[in-house]
Amino acid sequence: MPTRYDAGPEDVAAALGDQPAFRARQVWDGLYRRAIEPGEMTDLPLRLRQQLADELPLALEPELVSEADGGDTVKWLWRLQDGALVETVLMHYAERATVCVSSQAGCAMGCSFCATGQAGFERHLTTGEIVEQVVRAVQRARPRRLSNVVFMGMGEPMANLDHVIPALHRLHDDVGISARHLTVSTVGLVPGIERLATTGLPVNLAVSLHAADDELRDTLVPVNRRHPLESLMAACRGWFEGTGRRVSFEWALIAGVNDRPVDVRRLADLARDVRAHVNLIPLNPTPGYATPGTPPAGVQRFKDGLVELGVNATVRRNRGTGIDAACGQLRAGHEVTIGRRRRRAAV
Ligand code: SAH
Ligand code: SF4
Repeated sequence: MPTRYDAGPEDVAAALGDQPAFRARQVWDGLYRRAIEPGEMTDLPLRLRQQLADELPLALEPELVSEADGGDTVKWLWRLQDGALVETVLMHYAERATVCVSSQAGCAMGCSFCATGQAGFERHLTTGEIVEQVVRAVQRARPRRLSNVVFMGMGEPMANLDHVIPALHRLHDDVGISARHLTVSTVGLVPGIERLATTGLPVNLAVSLHAADDELRDTLVPVNRRHPLESLMAACRGWFEGTGRRVSFEWALIAGVNDRPVDVRRLADLARDVRAHVNLIPLNPTPGYATPGTPPAGVQRFKDGLVELGVNATVRRNRGTGIDAACGQLRAGHEVTIGRRRRRAAV
């Protein structure tokens, strides 16, 4: 039997046994739209609630739950049924919440500055394992409404589109999250960008750029050697033209590496060319990468430089650094000891 959120409508019907069709629809609505546990489905007879809980087990076992920012940031370390570990981060804002989900256990892309990349690849997550992260976050966020889902946790979503695309459909069609509030972040896998553009779901695309010339990008993001900037920019342009949606460029500012005046100019050229919005974030510390993030004054200078050149740029607020829940810090319990000791981020 599949786990609860990998179960299709026919599996849910089978788990209920000999029941009229409306029951299965009721349960489906409970699992997704209402995001409740079988035990809370009071419109079902008690026996069926118990039966469902037994027949459709959850896939994610919480191994550790940590909080930061006064409880506004929550990080789960989940143990999957085969023992693989992944993380999910929930961020509360005044009236809504955003969840950052993982699409793979580990990541094969090997970006040097990213804790997930430093730990290597374990396996793809299934559609249900992705969707369940969101459902668990919906439950935890209450009474706030979970409005946004970002695929910025562990893994490269474009390397797992066979499971990510069905997950996006489930989140949109069944959980009821608007496509405009779903964001897929990629290191720049060009075929994946092209495929996602044809799904018919107007989701947001974030491209983790970090460098605007091939020489530097080859060193920071090794996959650039396979999909260099020219083809990546063509894919971004195609995305904008095909979907009408602006791409956003993610740029982790690394002191002395990609925060120089020449980087501002090159990035501005690319961003203007494909009408991208730029999201800046100072690099968060990870065990395997020694160079620190750009200090706050440099971040502001970099942003001002972009704005002066006519680029739409924002600085992303950093959340969860104290519990290693910030961008690039997820490593699911892998104790990496190389490099210097971890520092707390200054921002
Ligand atoms: N694999 C996808 C999505 C997960 S990474 C991708 O790379 O886009 C989510 C974001 O965190 C990416 O923009 C990534 O570049 C960024 N990131 C990785 N390591 C980081 C670090 N140490 N500090 C800040 N951002 C980091
Ligand atoms: Fe993978 Fe993204 Fe980390 Fe690169 S930044 S190693 S693609 S998770």
